[in-house]
Amino acid sequence: MTAMPTSPLIDPFGRRITYLRVSVTDRCDFRCVYCMPEEMNFLPRKDLLTLEELDRLISAFIGKGVRKVRLTGGEPLVRKNLMWLIRSLSRHLGDRLEELTLTTNGSQLVRYADELAASGVRRINVSLDTLDAAKFKLLTRWGDFDRVTAGIDAAVRAGLKIKINAVALRGVNEDEIEDLLTYCHARGFDLTLIETMPMGETGSDRTEQYLPLSLVRTRLEERFTLTDVPFRTGGPARYVQVTETGGRLGFITPMTHNFCEACNRVRVTCTGTLYMCLGQEDAVDLRGPLRASESDHRLHTAIERAIAAKPKGHDFVIERSGRPSVGRTMSTTGG
Ligand code: SAM
Repeated sequence: MTAMPTSPLIDPFGRRITYLRVSVTDRCDFRCVYCMPEEMNFLPRKDLLTLEELDRLISAFIGKGVRKVRLTGGEPLVRKNLMWLIRSLSRHLGDRLEELTLTTNGSQLVRYADELAASGVRRINVSLDTLDAAKFKLLTRWGDFDRVTAGIDAAVRAGLKIKINAVALRGVNEDEIEDLLTYCHARGFDLTLIETMPMGETGSDRTEQYLPLSLVRTRLEERFTLTDVPFRTGGPARYVQVTETGGRLGFITPMTHNFCEACNRVRVTCTGTLYMCLGQEDAVDLRGPLRASESDHRLHTAIERAIAAKPKGHDFVIERSGRPSVGRTMSTTGG
């Protein structure tokens, strides 16, 4: 099915929606302590959209002006046959779609890096919060550091451009930020630091984990020269150029600096629920309209109504009570 052009998606605040993030599975082979509890209840497989349905849904968004699609999860590369979806979506590249990319924990990259590159993926984000193998195990509970770094090496060999995402965590990796910066920039990777967001019950105390990036930046400036640059990837990160390493460093600061004013994104889960804002509970079911008819008419109407109700922004607060601002974990909507 081709992406038939229809009217573009513009929300009530005049923001044009050009970026779709799709959580293709809520399952993950890691259990990062800030993301989800170890005993996680995943969705029954029967509730998931099929890959063909995901293809149709994403293509409908592309028809409505989405220019960038990021597949995420859970861990996107543990979804069976995901490469079929990527190959299928790649038909839109060079036409209406400018970029097809994914965010991964890197555990499956040894297996899939070449195929991703061959399917038109040019850049990927790999989440890596520490360079210390023992700490990596503690943080991810189930992850294997060597497997992830082997995956990153495979992605480099395949010609994929890499950005490393690291969640800044107080008392966990705050002493490693410089090392992460040096590691990334020595390899030509961008690095983006993320503030931990109060999403879902994880069994860990967020007030203890939260590290404001304003503080990280001040500390980095004692050693490095950071110059703000207008570079954007379409996401919420704000970048600086680091004179000493010659590389780029991004900051995603939902807590210290609300990034909603320029929001161009919406998120769909693997069950076809559309979340118009990462930090709000407002959601619209797209699975019903998708399955109701082979024509996309109802689906387009549902998408248009949802965008007309996109909230102005999130109001994340890390409370002493430890209560999350939104009930779902990041793995539901994929960050
Ligand atoms: N499994 C993939 C991965 O690890 O990149 C994609 C899904 S993961 C939920 C996407 C990103 O969200 C990761 O970089 C992860 O570190 C981040 N993340 C998870 N929970 C978070 C939270 N509560 N606050 C901030 N970032 C979070």
